[in-house]
Amino acid sequence: MKQAWDAPRDDETPVSSRPIGWPRLRTALTVLTLGQALAAAADCGDAALGTSRVLTLPREAAAYGRAQHGPLPLQPGEVVITFDDGPRPASTPLVLKALKAECVRATFFMNGEPMLADAALAREVKAQGHSIGLHGFRHPHFSLLPASEQLDDLRAVEAAYREVFGGRAAAYRFPFLEETPVLREALAASRYTLMSVDLGVEDWEPQSAQQMADKLVQRLAASGGGIVLLHDAQDRTAAALPLLLRTIKAHGYRVVHLRWDEESGH
Ligand SMILES: [Zn+2]
Repeated sequence: MKQAWDAPRDDETPVSSRPIGWPRLRTALTVLTLGQALAAAADCGDAALGTSRVLTLPREAAAYGRAQHGPLPLQPGEVVITFDDGPRPASTPLVLKALKAECVRATFFMNGEPMLADAALAREVKAQGHSIGLHGFRHPHFSLLPASEQLDDLRAVEAAYREVFGGRAAAYRFPFLEETPVLREALAASRYTLMSVDLGVEDWEPQSAQQMADKLVQRLAASGGGIVLLHDAQDRTAAALPLLLRTIKAHGYRVVHLRWDEESGH
C-alpha cells in the first residue's frame, strides 16, 4: 500500500488570504539579545541533544531517502531532521525555539508562497543556522498537473527563494513525495539534490506528543537512523518537538546537519 507522507498545512485558509500577524512576532524575535543567545549556547552542554557533525553535499543531481531512493552517507545511529511546508508564523517560531534549546540544526523544505508571505520568518530560519530547500511554490499534486504547470511552479519557487534569500537553493523535496518525470528531469538539469525521506511519524494526523515519540523510537530502531520527516507548519509538531528531541537523545541517536555547497555550480 502506498504510504501517505504529507498533508496540507494546519491552516484551512490559503496563505495568500491569511491575515499577517508577523510584525509582532518579528519584534519578539529581534529583541533576542546577544546575551540571551550566548546564554542559550551555554545551556547546551552534554545534557542537550546537540548537532554531532555537518555533512556538506556537493551541488549535484543526487537523490536520497530510502522511501524512494538510496540512503544518505550516514553512520548507524545518525539522524537528519527535516521540516516541510513552512514557514508559518503560528508554529515555525516554536520549532526554532525547540531546536535552539537543544542546539540542533535541521533542514527546512519551504513552499514558495509562505516564503514570500513571511519572508522575515523564512530568513530567521536560515539566520539560526538551518539549511533551506525547496518544496514547490504551492503544494500541488504534481502528478495531476500538465508539464507546463509543473515547470511554472518550479520557476515560481526558485524566484521566491531568490527574492527572499538571494542565490539558488540546492535541494528539493516533492510535495507529498510525488515525484514526476518532468520535474525530476528539470531538477537534475539544474543539479538539485532530490531529498526524499527515511521515516516519518505522520505528524499531520491527530495524535499526542507521546504517540509521536513512540512511533519515532520504533521507526528509528527499525531503520537505524536516517532522514526524519516532520512539518513545521503543524501546531502539534511544534508542541511535540521538545519531547521528540529529548527522545532522540535518550535513545542515543546523533544529529547530523545537512548542508549544500549552495553557491557552487551556477
Ligand atoms: Zn509538504
